[in-house]
Amino acid sequence: MSDIIQLLPDNVANQIAAGEVIQRPASVVKELLENSIDAQSTSVHLMVKDAGKTLIQVVDNGSGMSVTDARLSFERHATSKIKTAKDLFSLQTKGFRGEALASIAAISQVELKTKPEADEVGTQLKISGGEVESQEACVTSRGTAFKVKNLFFNIPARRNFLKSDAVETRHIIDEFQRVALAHPNVSFSFHHNSSELFQLPATNLRQRIVNIFGGKTNEKLVPVQEETEIAKIEGFVGKPEFAKRTKGEQFFFVNNRFIKSNYLNHAVKSSFEGLLKDKAYPSYFLCLKIDPKRIDINIHPTKTEIKFDDEHALYSILRSSVKHSLGQFNISPVLDFQKDSGLDTPYDLEHKPAQTPKIDVDRNFNPFEKESRGNAGLAQPEFRQKQSNPGDWKELYADLERKEHSSENFEIESEQVSGKLFSSQEEMGDGPKTFQLHRKYIISSIKTGMLAINQNRAHFRILYERLLKNITDEPALSQQLLFPLKLTFSKPDLELLERMSDSLLQTGFLFEEKEKDEIHITGIPTSIAESEVEQLMTELLSNFENQVPNSGFEKTDLMARSLAKGMAIKSGSQLKASEQVAILNELFACKEPKLSPSNQKIYVILTAEDLDKKFD
Ligand code: ADP
Ligand code: MG
Repeated sequence: MSDIIQLLPDNVANQIAAGEVIQRPASVVKELLENSIDAQSTSVHLMVKDAGKTLIQVVDNGSGMSVTDARLSFERHATSKIKTAKDLFSLQTKGFRGEALASIAAISQVELKTKPEADEVGTQLKISGGEVESQEACVTSRGTAFKVKNLFFNIPARRNFLKSDAVETRHIIDEFQRVALAHPNVSFSFHHNSSELFQLPATNLRQRIVNIFGGKTNEKLVPVQEETEIAKIEGFVGKPEFAKRTKGEQFFFVNNRFIKSNYLNHAVKSSFEGLLKDKAYPSYFLCLKIDPKRIDINIHPTKTEIKFDDEHALYSILRSSVKHSLGQFNISPVLDFQKDSGLDTPYDLEHKPAQTPKIDVDRNFNPFEKESRGNAGLAQPEFRQKQSNPGDWKELYADLERKEHSSENFEIESEQVSGKLFSSQEEMGDGPKTFQLHRKYIISSIKTGMLAINQNRAHFRILYERLLKNITDEPALSQQLLFPLKLTFSKPDLELLERMSDSLLQTGFLFEEKEKDEIHITGIPTSIAESEVEQLMTELLSNFENQVPNSGFEKTDLMARSLAKGMAIKSGSQLKASEQVAILNELFACKEPKLSPSNQKIYVILTAEDLDKKFD
């Protein structure tokens, strides 16, 4: 029998190897960003089109490559990072296998421009499906720019296997954040289609975390620091009361490389023992420095799992240093499980079965009614829909009594009111007295003194909780428009609206997508006016573009928050007595009356003693 075994051609071998390293656009992003870091860049820009399916571009200001290196970099097992097997145990770089570029080039169309600082001209190289198409001199600045186009163009099965743009974008964001967190001293930017998702200046770890996860993160961080013979640990854990219901912000970095480890995760989790509510995941950003001799990175193609020499010791060091930090910063004693933190999932989304949204149309709605009431100080639509009824007062008192046992000890004074202060005594019953100050605050007298409520923030909170309930529980009423409202949006915005359509339906929006860039809105929530719709939608979209929520709850939360913020009565609006009372009433029926959804104080209390002091 004749010999039948032959060596596979390079491009076939590379395509096979690519299967391991490059699973999706996010894998390309990871490899390119890591190469930029290895090239000592101080500034790295990532640009992505259509979730990386069309284009992934990374531009850095690192060392660049010579003409020969540029060509060689695409060969399999071509690397400048190690020379012998021994070097595997003193790795300081992200890459070392020399596989990534060969793999990426085998399954996409790559364009490379690169130039070392000292050279006059740079090199441009075009490769498609592993075949070099051209190599020539070019003008370019110091560093390297990669364009990776049409990933998997020659492997349709893989391309079809990719998930929706939203999912693939999320994966890219994850990889981007991991590299950006591991290297706070490098500046990064990230644009998706035409929108800027991240702009991160070079800084320290704490500030980098805040820049990525938002300004409020700063106060939630507890520093962790420990130095032992085996490892040096530095970083932050999130205070337990801010722990999330979704596994999101959990990061281990070993020698500036993001890694996954269930075992170490367990160590951190166990140091939070007794401090977390059920099903809450603590956040952590922990950087371990370990002698490269003591770890093996070469056990997984994407290098996100590594082997430690002494895992058990590491477990206990990690556990005790996190415990120590939590103790030192006095986390445990002040923890109060009864208290609503305002950041918890207010409704039980996780256990809610998926259901097709039902739409209730208010057939009795009279669109002309609104016009007739338009100028009568009722511009705030909230009150068109809901008139306070006498029964509400009982609830308020019941609620306040309950609250008396909780943190804040006060009660709205319920002395018999003459009724003259209010528009209608029947409506008010024996409710609290209120008046408005500077068209901004609602003032009321309470047992211990005086209560001042910020009307905008209070209404923001009320609407937020109501919307959240509408989205997660019961669909809101919808008022049908006589003539559809026609709004135009850009393509990505329309896609975003499409993705939010379920939740929008639940809040009372009815809309159809028409050809081109137009949607026709045929129904809107009863609590908003037609004239406000366009601005609300625009705000909603821009919030979503900037924040890219990573879970179902975050999405719902962001939607409720954006709509509520747009709909809330503003400072400067005059409120009728009944409206002031309705706000007071509804605010204290909220789950978290103290803080607005953006964590700002809703009310302050001036006690009688405070006043007495002023008269001293
Ligand atoms: P590895 O990173 O494992 O060495 P790669 O295939 O990712 O393998 O890259 C091959 C080589 O190309 C690298 O070793 C490096 O010398 C060079 N290279 C890749 N990206 C860059 C970059 N952004 N700047 C400078 N050199 C680069
Ligand atoms: Mg590499």
